[in-house]
Amino acid sequence: MIDGYIDEPSCLGVPPFLAPLPRYIYGSIKKFMPSWEIDYKTIDQLRKVLKENYQNNSHIGLNNLRENNIIILITGVSVPGKYLGGTPLRFSDLKHISNFFSESFKIICGPSTVFGIGEEGGKPSIPIERLESNDKKWNLIIKGDPEIVLSKLLQENEEIFYKYEEIDQISNFKEILQYKRKNMEEILDFSIIGAGLISLHPNYSENDGGNLTCEIETFRGCPRYLNGGCLFCVEPKKGPTIHRKIDSIVEEIKSLYNNGVRHFRLGNQTDFYAFNHGLFKNKRYPKPNPEAIEELLSKIRNSCPDIRTLHIDNVNALNFVLYPKEAEKITRSIIKYCTDGNIAAIGVESVDPKVISMNNLKASADEIMVAISIINKYGKIIGKNGNPAFLPGLNFIMGLQGETEESLNLNYQFLKKILQENYLIRRINLRKFLIPSGFNPKFNKKIKKHLTKFSSKYFKWKNSIRKDIDHPLLQKIYPIGRELKNVYAEKNDGNGTLLRQPGTYPITCFVPRKLDLFQFYNLIVVDHGFRSLNCLTAPIELIKLTQRELEIIDGIGKKRAKTIILKRPLSKKEWLEILPLEIWEKITKLQPSLLNFNEKNIQNLN
Ligand code: SF4
Repeated sequence: MIDGYIDEPSCLGVPPFLAPLPRYIYGSIKKFMPSWEIDYKTIDQLRKVLKENYQNNSHIGLNNLRENNIIILITGVSVPGKYLGGTPLRFSDLKHISNFFSESFKIICGPSTVFGIGEEGGKPSIPIERLESNDKKWNLIIKGDPEIVLSKLLQENEEIFYKYEEIDQISNFKEILQYKRKNMEEILDFSIIGAGLISLHPNYSENDGGNLTCEIETFRGCPRYLNGGCLFCVEPKKGPTIHRKIDSIVEEIKSLYNNGVRHFRLGNQTDFYAFNHGLFKNKRYPKPNPEAIEELLSKIRNSCPDIRTLHIDNVNALNFVLYPKEAEKITRSIIKYCTDGNIAAIGVESVDPKVISMNNLKASADEIMVAISIINKYGKIIGKNGNPAFLPGLNFIMGLQGETEESLNLNYQFLKKILQENYLIRRINLRKFLIPSGFNPKFNKKIKKHLTKFSSKYFKWKNSIRKDIDHPLLQKIYPIGRELKNVYAEKNDGNGTLLRQPGTYPITCFVPRKLDLFQFYNLIVVDHGFRSLNCLTAPIELIKLTQRELEIIDGIGKKRAKTIILKRPLSKKEWLEILPLEIWEKITKLQPSLLNFNEKNIQNLN
């Protein structure tokens, strides 16, 4: 199984996240063919092996890979972003994979088989049909639900996995490849057995679970399908929403937990507040079901007492406007049962009324402000891991129909207002419209032209948002001296290290020291980037810091760091001769008991 990763509006599977689909596929195969051995490689692992072997002109290790009889490639990126944890499958990877596994039976599946492979915002995703006409080396392209299609083939036509050439002889073969789930209970066994996959994932560690985060599905579809949904979105095409049973979700999580997973996100749905929703009391949106959400979350916490991350994703602002009582109740349950640092990702897309109407967007600026205010009312409190308990995150899309320079200005003013009202937003996501495959070519051309024309405007606009909104927000949310617990070292970057806490949209922390990777550290915030933090490992002992570590503390800089290094150990008086009082005050916030500037420590060092 090769995981090319999934990143759809309602599901994330780029490491450290593992999407449900690879687990369901694993479960479906193991249920019907328990003796089959399954190997799992992420696309990044595969690229690395192929590259190393190509460079060294050797085949060590490759023969083992090649011996796999069947290759199942999963791909599904329709909203590409930049990821610290991996690089999703690109269209060009397909050729290398099919050439490399020339002898194996090769299957492609996942959302990209329907919506195309998205590589970059602003460019049309590449339809899988291009592959069908270019490269006949792929034996099966599954456009239905892969776990269902595979289970049908394994039960009824197992022989095709050994005699590929007989594939066309299956009478309703084309139909089988389109099979979809009829209800959510069809995946229950697959989701439970699928937990067996996690030990093969590179982000999993036997010691503590690593930072592997399992994305969990709660329902499929968007409740706005009834009125067409947002015009740019693929979700309404999935039809009426179908929901999983509470106990089925809990059983799946229990199975993953018992296999060692400690981090979870209830992220595979279009709106967490709409899980098991009621009737359309208002024709714009159905009534939320706070009792179902309370039951789901409480059962998860009771069954998995040592869970370390439980977050959600995707929230529709309409819940707060049309059903404020229910939405408040759900917000309180989320804060009670989920872990801190949780984010309600709200799709704003644009607050320009003209763009809202032309694209049938869900809510107006005022309506979104209502959602922001209610989430802030309960979620601002600082939790044990150093993060606010629960904050909104906002998504904007550039290049929607009807967008003008004024639209960008309105969006900017809206964000400014949030800052002025003293609300907190954990992150602002600005992305270019990605044209899904199947859009009218005339329309594609128009959007492409608009995106090119606006590219310098976007650049300026994005920079102003990063500078004027993101930066002050980060300063408020993570003040200097804040301790962040259990931050996972993911990557060395030059002489520094990039770390993140597991969970939803975690803040990236930079530490100017090469730390051992794949371990958890506690960090102290010492400065802010536009979208990241500069940190030092806790506890801070100023006397031991390197020049680079001193330099990144807000207000110290290169020159002062040099003087401190030359003159230390320093008494408080000497510190104050080097640093202005305001910087000194900031520094004393950094774990005052461990600053090591007092006379006693100086004597000890002498
Ligand atoms: S509300 Fe709009 S963007 Fe969100 S899932 Fe539904 S159609 Fe898509």
